[in-house]
Amino acid sequence: MAQMNYIQLEKLGEGTYATVFKGRSKTTNEIVALKEIHLDAEEGTPSTAIREISLLKELKHVNILRLHDVIHTETKLILVFEFCEQDLKRYMDQHGNRGALDPSTVKSFMFQLLKGTNFCHENQVLHRDLKPQNLLINRKMELKLGDFGLARAFGVPVNTFSNEVVTLWYRAPDVLLGSRTYSTSIDLWSCGCIFAEMISGMPLFRGKDNNDQLMHIMKILGTPSHQQLAKMLKDSPEIVLNREFPQLPKINLAQVLPKASPAALDLLERLLKFDPSERISAADALSHPYFTETTNAAPAPPPGSMPPPNFNFPHPNRHQQQQHANVLQPRNNQQQPQQQQAHQQYGLPVPVPSMFIPRQPMQGQPMQGQPMQGQPMQGQVNAAQAQAQAQAAYYNNMPFNPQQQYGHPGMQ
Ligand code: AMP
Repeated sequence: MAQMNYIQLEKLGEGTYATVFKGRSKTTNEIVALKEIHLDAEEGTPSTAIREISLLKELKHVNILRLHDVIHTETKLILVFEFCEQDLKRYMDQHGNRGALDPSTVKSFMFQLLKGTNFCHENQVLHRDLKPQNLLINRKMELKLGDFGLARAFGVPVNTFSNEVVTLWYRAPDVLLGSRTYSTSIDLWSCGCIFAEMISGMPLFRGKDNNDQLMHIMKILGTPSHQQLAKMLKDSPEIVLNREFPQLPKINLAQVLPKASPAALDLLERLLKFDPSERISAADALSHPYFTETTNAAPAPPPGSMPPPNFNFPHPNRHQQQQHANVLQPRNNQQQPQQQQAHQQYGLPVPVPSMFIPRQPMQGQPMQGQPMQGQPMQGQVNAAQAQAQAQAAYYNNMPFNPQQQYGHPGMQ
């Protein structure tokens, strides 16, 4: 039998869908993670789930946990994944200052999280259950999205196999309100929650149930206006608005996360938009000035004494956007080697000097309701090429067939 190719070693953890064991390949001695999903004795695994999972084998990117193999027996489904030393939750517990990571590590992990998310979105795959426990970190400090597509194949469950309630803390407000027409934006909301958690060491919105989760969100972001809610309802008619929400004011995110730089707060603000149509895409987030500012910026001054941010991102006019981005670029060339060193150390692509990092071309079709992105700005083709080369060298992306459409939100 196929699973005899692997020796099962110690238990690594209990996940949303399965139990995870360490394993060793009998043929190559490679250490792997074996994710065992027990099948319903009568129903077995729906063939659609097996097909979905098998397709994930083709999703090859350094920031996505590689699925080596899918072994299907009568009683279980075993997914053979690349092994990683720990997940982000454990990493924050062990290496963080009360869970909070240092700014350079936050930036590196955030960049990798968005890279992996962007690659999946480009290829029409949604995660739908991003959280620190699902992000794996290996010895090289590479962050990898785990369980990609499993939420799609099995649905986001209410209970895990160990009867723990699945956390709502990273769930987007539109989903909490009942939206089923959500798209890539739900993953960006989770990225925002994870970003805030890496900065502070504490989950940002810690609700006990659906309603409580919405209240936690509104206590920080403020209650959306009637017009905003009406627009969301128009976009997603299945949203249920059967109650009045208390009118809560918006809190300045700098007060919630005093350690965050203005650029980090600006990116966070764009990720945590209540209305999904206003949320920044992964591609745009990757081009945010946060990733090109130097990481050893002084901590934000106390609330109230902060000057207004000198940029506004993303700008509807890209030429203006470039000007704004340049404001954040080091003006002094001597700063660049230091910045490049920091980027190399933490696995960030080296910024193209004095140029705004152009967006990467999208593979495949844009998601429903989203504009096609990724066209380099006029006159920046060389910068785009240089950036692409720098990233290719680091990320070593494997080809992926954009024709294979799976995990599309329209497919339920
Ligand atoms: P999951 O079902 O992906 O949530 O996995 C449950 C737990 O098992 C995670 O929180 C990790 O601690 C561990 N785990 C999952 N995948 C791996 C892996 N590829 N390498 C090492 N540990 C893993």
